[in-house]
Amino acid sequence: MLSSDLLKEAERVMTICNACRYCEGYCAVYPAMELRRTFADKDLKYLANLCHNCRACYYACQYAPPHEFDVNVARVFADLRLECYREFARPALLAGMFRRNGLAVGILTAAALVTVFLLLGIFQDSPVIFAAHSGANAFYRVIPYPLFILPFSVLVVCLSAVLLWSNISFWRKTGGKLGELLDPRANLQAIGDALRLKYLDGGGHGCNYPDERFSMLRRYFHHLVFYGFILCLASTTVAAAYHHFLQWPAPYPYLSWPVLLGTAGGLALLAGTAGLLILKKKMDPLPGAPRARGMDVGFLVLLFFTSFSGLLLLALRATPAMGILLAVHLAVVAALFVAMPYGKFVHALYRFVALVRNARERSRQ
Ligand code: SF4
Ligand code: SF4
Repeated sequence: MLSSDLLKEAERVMTICNACRYCEGYCAVYPAMELRRTFADKDLKYLANLCHNCRACYYACQYAPPHEFDVNVARVFADLRLECYREFARPALLAGMFRRNGLAVGILTAAALVTVFLLLGIFQDSPVIFAAHSGANAFYRVIPYPLFILPFSVLVVCLSAVLLWSNISFWRKTGGKLGELLDPRANLQAIGDALRLKYLDGGGHGCNYPDERFSMLRRYFHHLVFYGFILCLASTTVAAAYHHFLQWPAPYPYLSWPVLLGTAGGLALLAGTAGLLILKKKMDPLPGAPRARGMDVGFLVLLFFTSFSGLLLLALRATPAMGILLAVHLAVVAALFVAMPYGKFVHALYRFVALVRNARERSRQ
């Protein structure tokens, strides 16, 4: 369905829902909908990103297919979110990454692996790559520190700039002024909602995922992915501080903060991504967007292999396999960073911005 058709369909179902209002207690979308009599494109894009596809309204709806009204809010909003990801991708030239995203992420990962191994083969001797290294700077004997830090610093700066650019574009094009995005009270409220995954608890019994039955599994696995990711970030930050401020280079002992945080984060990511992939395989496709499946799976698989390769590197870092595992892990992390603004990761940012707008609307009531 083309974007304009999708917007018309979203407007149609929201108009029916606004007359019905049966689902007003399910999530933040329906109370936000009730504040409006008509639905401009910017309102629909905001509401679509406020929806987290819990599917409660689909299974509860007396007008859902096969009823002639054909109301399927969960699917229309899932499709519209995908359109938003394309529309607000920056630079716009790269918006095509959202088409067949799973394939694009796969090609990107393969390209990162080939590049890292080519560079390793050109600039490092085989005996060094395949030797067992131990003690301080063991990793940097295989890949020198500047080759480690420079590309990743550039990647992190570009990644942050691109994500900020996309997010600000989304906020402005959905009717917000830049200063309002910094509203401290609304941000605090949104952070609280996001950290608790408030709307995935379905009022205490979970969402209707992967099928009609209520379940908290999606919320638990989502928490594992989210906090696992945060712990891995914390591990990298502490390691960087040790290296630069304490002149203490990696690798670190098993009972050190970088390793403890990274291990906990890696295990949480493994369990969370595996759990979400299993649920996705079992999910009822009708209230979802089939076109988004490749993107969802691609991102989860990439996250899974990022944590798997990191944990394997930790376990085998004193063996001759370390050089190859280090190269694989760096390539997968680089692919993850490059793919972040052009894949499922962006849902977290747009949803957060939608929660900020929602907090502002609620405080004005
Ligand atoms: S999804 Fe169906 S039941 Fe829920 S508010 Fe809309 S029309 Fe009513
Ligand atoms: S799918 Fe869930 S979050 Fe989305 S509109 Fe329906 S009830 Fe709300």
